[in-house]
Amino acid sequence: MHDGAFHGQRWFITGGSRGIGLAVARRVLSQGHRVAVLARRVDKSLAGELGDRALCVPGDVSDPESMQRAADKVAEAWGGIDVLVNNAGLHRGGKVDRLALADWDAVLSTNLSGALYGVRAVLPHMPDGGSIVNIGAVVGFRGFPGDSAYAASKAGLSGLTAVLAVELAVRQIRVNLVLPGLVMTDMTAAIGVKSRERLIARVPLRRVGTEEEIANVVCWVSGSTYMTGAVIPTDGGMMCQL
Ligand code: NAP
Repeated sequence: MHDGAFHGQRWFITGGSRGIGLAVARRVLSQGHRVAVLARRVDKSLAGELGDRALCVPGDVSDPESMQRAADKVAEAWGGIDVLVNNAGLHRGGKVDRLALADWDAVLSTNLSGALYGVRAVLPHMPDGGSIVNIGAVVGFRGFPGDSAYAASKAGLSGLTAVLAVELAVRQIRVNLVLPGLVMTDMTAAIGVKSRERLIARVPLRRVGTEEEIANVVCWVSGSTYMTGAVIPTDGGMMCQL
């Protein structure tokens, strides 16, 4: 379904306006593909910076109708979507007795329901052989105090990834889960210097990751044609540490 002149891939990245999602978008563009970045707020300047193979689409992953409108718009422009990256994410912390229920709901509806809405919106436009990369987190697999909402959402994404991998295999659509370790973005900017040092002390490679290091793995996973249902930690070894 590609239009005449273009033979690259058509990517749709939720939360592609900054942080890890934007690094994936830049890498994809550097490889000659097209990319649509979706976020609640997308600046005109971003569209200018990314160039004419990019679309900036406003949308809210926690709203299924908004996601459907966004996916339909991208598919109308390009004739289809080959790769979906469910990257949009929200972090709200608080120990279990103090976590606001509104925060629990916001995190679950963005990180977990948002991925389901993304898949349901994009699937009708995805040709057989397409690829879905979900972005999880190490804390979805390890207990970290104060992270019940975030951890539950990312653990849920792991179950969703496994089910989708099996359900969509009949169409040769692969679904995998990349687990970033600590990367300094807007999401982690509030972590103080001391807390950051304590976290880094638990990373075998003794440093944070970069957005580009995560983006490299997302692109590699997306193109790995015999990989589905896989969980790929990209975390400096954090998952191995006791
Ligand atoms: P970030 O810099 O805070 O960026 C988050 C992106 O998601 C932004 O583009 C934001 O744009 C978008 N977003 C948030 N809520 C949205 C919604 N309801 N609808 C649409 N877009 C929404 O975060 P990041 O660090 O790059 O994180 C990217 C992903 O990696 C997340 O899934 C996160 O959980 C995961 N991760 C990050 C780390 C880390 O250390 N940074 C570690 C493990 C996993 P708007 O606010 O304008 O909507």
